[in-house]
Amino acid sequence: MTKQLPVKQCQYCGGTDIGLGWQHGEALVTFKKHGVFGNRLQYLICRRCGAVLYQCVAEPHKFPSVR
Ligand SMILES: [Zn+2]
Repeated sequence: MTKQLPVKQCQYCGGTDIGLGWQHGEALVTFKKHGVFGNRLQYLICRRCGAVLYQCVAEPHKFPSVR
């Protein structure tokens, strides 16, 4: 990931020690109803209070547009 983090400071405790996490496996967000191609969820987590500050999928361009 080279793009800039959308969160730099915890909105809850004001901490700036942000951790990056990934969610795999059972809670995969899939873009196919029964497909095996899951999309990893990326999390930004405050390492001070543990709040999840931001979450997004790794490859948003793979999801079909609703329009
Ligand atoms: Zn915090």
